[in-house]
Amino acid sequence: AKEQGASSYHFFSQTLEDSLNEKMYLENGLRNALHDEEFFLVYQPLVSPASGKTTGIETLIRWRHPKSGIISPDKFIPLAETSGLIVDIDLWVLREACRQAKDWQDRGFPKIPMSVNLSAKQFYRTGLFEDIRTILEETGLNAHYLNLEITESVFIKHMDPVIDTLTQLRNMGIQISIDDFGTGYSSLSQLQRLPISVVKLDRTFIQDVEQSEMKSSVVKAVIELAHSMGLKVVAEGIETEQERNFFTRLACDELQGFYFSKPLEASLFEQYLIIEYR
Ligand code: C2E
Ligand code: CA
Ligand code: CA
Ligand code: CA
Repeated sequence: AKEQGASSYHFFSQTLEDSLNEKMYLENGLRNALHDEEFFLVYQPLVSPASGKTTGIETLIRWRHPKSGIISPDKFIPLAETSGLIVDIDLWVLREACRQAKDWQDRGFPKIPMSVNLSAKQFYRTGLFEDIRTILEETGLNAHYLNLEITESVFIKHMDPVIDTLTQLRNMGIQISIDDFGTGYSSLSQLQRLPISVVKLDRTFIQDVEQSEMKSSVVKAVIELAHSMGLKVVAEGIETEQERNFFTRLACDELQGFYFSKPLEASLFEQYLIIEYR
């Protein structure tokens, strides 16, 4: 038993060391990634439940690491947040996404909102509103076609300055979505005083919903309450036809997930839209 303990300790310390090394390795690389143009964007459609037609787009970042290949945001966004690099990375994403949205509109693609994820860290500094306004001016995208996705963690700290900024953004015509809803601690009624217009139900809400009476009644209640508050509801992470049918019956406003399309690079996303609207 003693030997086993020693070997499992050894195993543990090694993986801990490995993961610390990996973190340091990634964090070092992250510092030059923007300058070295290693980031790129992929786009995933948000679709109308009944028709399956694209009614919105979410922008997601990818990192093409020179040695390690493509790294998913779940790996590097947390590091970017602790190191503060996230502020510039998110602004780069926002500028690229707005530029791409304007380009698609100018080339005759349907005029639909472009969603961009914004880290909660953006709200712990001044100048966010001005930065976003400048990016819209520079790219020429109409504010009505920009949707910012934030998580409930934005509201952990000081609620009032966050609400002020969100109100400024909304008054400009920008839409705000609450992302990953259901994974945090807030209830919909707590979100009532916020200037938001969309709630995105997290995939954990979607998975196995038909197998669980409990889960499906919670989901139904959340959707009804959101609608009664005048909010749109998006179901994220739709992977199967059953899931699509279930959330269509529940009158979700938009669906998103691998069932419709994986996130695609710009040129492939264009092909997707062209085929769909042909
Ligand atoms: P998120 O905002 O909740 O984005 C949805 C994630 O679910 C994406 O992962 C997407 O690829 C994935 N997904 C979409 N459909 C399905 C499905 O049917 N099944 C499953 N299992 N997954 C699906 P991704 O692209 O790896 O992004 C992970 C997270 O990283 C995002 O979660 C978001 O929190 C963050 N992130 C991505 N891009 C950015 C960015 O530009 N800025 C910031 N601050 N965060 C970002
Ligand atoms: Ca999102
Ligand atoms: Ca989400
Ligand atoms: Ca997420």
